[in-house]
Amino acid sequence: MEAKRELELKGIGASPGIVGGPVLLLKTDDDPLPEYAISAEDVPREMIRLETALIETRRQLHEIQQRVGEAMGSESAGIFEAHLHVVDDPSFVDEVYRDVREKRKNVEKILFETSERYAQTLLEVEDDYLRERATDIRDVTRRILRNLAGGGSDWLAGLETPRVLVARDIAPSEMAAFDRRKILGVVTEMGSPTSHAAIMARAMDLPAIVGLRGASSRLADGDRVVLDGVRGILVLHPSPAREEAYGQIARSRMVIQKRLGTLKEEEAVTLDGHAVVLSANIEMPADVEAVWARGARGIGLFRSEYLFLAEGGEPSEERQYEAYAEVARKILPESAIIRTLDLGGDKVAAAGKIAGEANPFLGWRAIRLCLDRPATFKTQLRAILRASAHNPKVRIMYPMISSAGEVDRANVLLEECKSELAAAGTAFNPDVEVGVMIEIPSAALTADLIAPKVKFFSIGTNDLVQYTLAVDRGNERIAQLYEPTHPAVLQLIRHAVEASHRHGIWTGVCGEMAGNPILAPLLLGLGVDELSASPGAVPLVKDVLRHIRFSEAQDLAEAARGMSTGAEVLDHCRALVRRAAPEILELAE
Ligand code: PEP
Ligand code: MG
Repeated sequence: MEAKRELELKGIGASPGIVGGPVLLLKTDDDPLPEYAISAEDVPREMIRLETALIETRRQLHEIQQRVGEAMGSESAGIFEAHLHVVDDPSFVDEVYRDVREKRKNVEKILFETSERYAQTLLEVEDDYLRERATDIRDVTRRILRNLAGGGSDWLAGLETPRVLVARDIAPSEMAAFDRRKILGVVTEMGSPTSHAAIMARAMDLPAIVGLRGASSRLADGDRVVLDGVRGILVLHPSPAREEAYGQIARSRMVIQKRLGTLKEEEAVTLDGHAVVLSANIEMPADVEAVWARGARGIGLFRSEYLFLAEGGEPSEERQYEAYAEVARKILPESAIIRTLDLGGDKVAAAGKIAGEANPFLGWRAIRLCLDRPATFKTQLRAILRASAHNPKVRIMYPMISSAGEVDRANVLLEECKSELAAAGTAFNPDVEVGVMIEIPSAALTADLIAPKVKFFSIGTNDLVQYTLAVDRGNERIAQLYEPTHPAVLQLIRHAVEASHRHGIWTGVCGEMAGNPILAPLLLGLGVDELSASPGAVPLVKDVLRHIRFSEAQDLAEAARGMSTGAEVLDHCRALVRRAAPEILELAE
């Protein structure tokens, strides 16, 4: 048999690692919906197809429910309940059966129409809770449709060998539900390295490429590929020579990784003795193990919203408390910064659509949503406060702050929670430290007004870059414009750091820039006190910091002041790392 011709496809490296294996193409919701007329004799067959798909859907939902529960390390009550309710709703299902019979159309078409009718009705209701049920209906319908398409949705369960997933796009909530053992790596057509699905891939140590246009039309199920998540290269039908070359690269990277493993107990300190707090970002309580394993000092960012995403709804105070307390205890004696809910944007994009938002990243997101829904916010604050009883270094952080006034409003609610807990005799740390994310230019510019109200800043460069440069962080078409080293971004970082120091508080960086070993020295030179990276990036950053002098980092930051382009700054950053820690470049680009 003639060997298929090798083809190299280039995307954007989003999560490091080299893996080879067969492709699993994920059906997308954009695939055209099949629509055809059926005869009276075909009706029973369509009914059976629907019934089979519903049974499968139920099974999958229960399985995900269980897996997500395990990943969070505790009871999984309430998980995916809303989705199961839709599948079990007799009026919804009966309506589909009736229309198939009466309209004589295939079940996919009827199911979709019925679901949209239900969703539209709910969207017109004034009640937020009911409006959100429209998302559930649409999500479940997508799942049933995938099952009708031939098991495409239960991509993973039936797999004997793990695969490289290829999709147009993957929602962060889908990533959260993946069974890691069944996946080698991920390739998406959309997205950029700071889109949340990419961040999730790094958290899961899953090699990934994003922004690889046309991937799903050029690849077929079962095609052999090699994925290089550092360089963003996907090789289709790799030749034996290519497989061998990649094998060698993988082996040499493994040797470097092994050496980095020995740094676990070492401090993140420069050659001239400047120490940095190097902590890690987590999305789920189970990730705490990786924080320890990679030698990070505490948790600089716990993205608590994944609890909400994974459960497809609002977890109870008790459920949240369990999760936060677990993190608080497991990370002792180090600290854990628990960020309050940051939903919106590309996290629960569907909810953005529901609210009819044309610009979800500029819309009802994070602290805005929380201040509008004090009951939700206070439930979370109470849960975090209760967790603070287990670890005096549990800290609270508000995301998407755009003004000092928002901090005041959030703090008022926090004080209310403290009073309520105190009145009930519930234990918490009354001196719990509160900080804010600096990720909107207005917050960076007014850092002097915000600083007196908090104990720390953490710069969210992922958003700061997108809002400063007006470059959507998830849009692969403009990914080349997304420059963390842009002079405007650096000025804002410098401004926030200096303001914090003027007010006697510290500033960290928890955006992906902190985990980029090429950029970490620049942040250090700008005066940043703490870096929080995905656990996998921690050893790389630590190694670089241990090979440079603080004075070099300061010189770099000073020289950057005079540079007019982000590219020039990036070149200088790269030159420093090439000189000081050349091995790291092999892992980083
Ligand atoms: C950021 O914006 O840099 C950040 C850390 O938050 P997220 O990526 O969750 O928006
Ligand atoms: Mg952010």
